[in-house]
Amino acid sequence: MKKLIYLDYASTTPVDQQVLKEMKNYFTIKGTFGNPSSSLHPFGINAKNAIENARINISNIIGSKKEEIIFTSSATESINLAIKGIAFNYLNFKNKNIITSLMEHQAVLETCNFIKRLGIKIIYIKNSHIGKINVNTLEKKITNGTILVSIMHINNEIGIINDINQIGYICKKKNIFFHVDATQSVGKYLFNLKNMNIDLLSFSAHKFYGPKGIGVLYIKNNKKKINLLPLIHGGGQENGLRSGTLAIHQIIGMSTALKISNSIIKQEKKRITFLKKKLWNGIKNIPGIYLNGNFKNSSPYIINIGFKNIFNKILILEMKNIAISTSSACNSNKYHLSYVLKSLGLNDKLIQSSIRISFGKFTTEKEIDYTVEKFNLIINKIRKKY
Ligand SMILES: *Cc1c(COP(=O)(O)O)cnc(C)c1O
Repeated sequence: MKKLIYLDYASTTPVDQQVLKEMKNYFTIKGTFGNPSSSLHPFGINAKNAIENARINISNIIGSKKEEIIFTSSATESINLAIKGIAFNYLNFKNKNIITSLMEHQAVLETCNFIKRLGIKIIYIKNSHIGKINVNTLEKKITNGTILVSIMHINNEIGIINDINQIGYICKKKNIFFHVDATQSVGKYLFNLKNMNIDLLSFSAHKFYGPKGIGVLYIKNNKKKINLLPLIHGGGQENGLRSGTLAIHQIIGMSTALKISNSIIKQEKKRITFLKKKLWNGIKNIPGIYLNGNFKNSSPYIINIGFKNIFNKILILEMKNIAISTSSACNSNKYHLSYVLKSLGLNDKLIQSSIRISFGKFTTEKEIDYTVEKFNLIINKIRKKY
């Protein structure tokens, strides 16, 4: 097998052919290209209708109301809007804090770092050795000054699943807003936000076969009003929360991608669960192998493993035509050692020996068989050589 094998779906996914086909209707003079804010002529009205239909489709899938969906450029932007949007209400207050964890995506951590400089305290909940947030610990950390809890659903490096129902329940009880970074779960996990105590939820289309550069922030609209301050000012689109002409082709792409992903969610979960097990069973007896996180309480789409005394970058280079990653796809120096693995208690040496493998729609059993074979071969080769 000479072909390239992609096992890095947690960093991004290819756009689905059907999605691309649909998107192509929203660019040119022959398609629906109008500015959805141009409400006085059919070009604008048609664009607006297409966007509102996409909004309805997305909200039906995640169990929200259509007016609770705000389109942004990415999960990163959604996360920034959620956290800063709440925090900016409290800049002149004393003793306010935001609770989050050490395993969040950089979009959450760096936003919190910024907020910290503005005088709001950030409280980090320590996770367990498998990477899960203990709900009781979290509850105990909540103070009178807590303005927001932000905890991710599924971790992008190790796939661990947090109990967001339970955390939501606590936040509701204590009357505190709850934001969830659901970027690794939307499109792979059935959601019904109606029955969940989540106030804000972020996700990105390119993690479920939609285009890059488009995301959603869900903002619960109920009796307890969420006053978010916008980050981007201008024409007042998206209820004034996110100005700028809506990217119609992107929104259609995201909506179509979510529809397709959701229609195969159950069979895909079953298929990928089987493939993850097959991979693990095929390599778990390699001497010195270890699993980061835990198998049972994790997403079938992600596995994080290491091989003692093997430098991950060497392993990845040796794997050649198989695309895997060291941890998250991040190029900043600050994060060159995975802080997620560090939070599990791993020492630097084990962190530098760890890799992430993530599966997706185009992953086949053949590819997994090949990958298993290659791991066995390469680990042996490296151990002999060094
Ligand atoms: C990919 C990812 C993000 C960032 O998404 P962008 O579209 O790159 O902004 C945030 N959180 C998690 C958990 C992710 O996996």
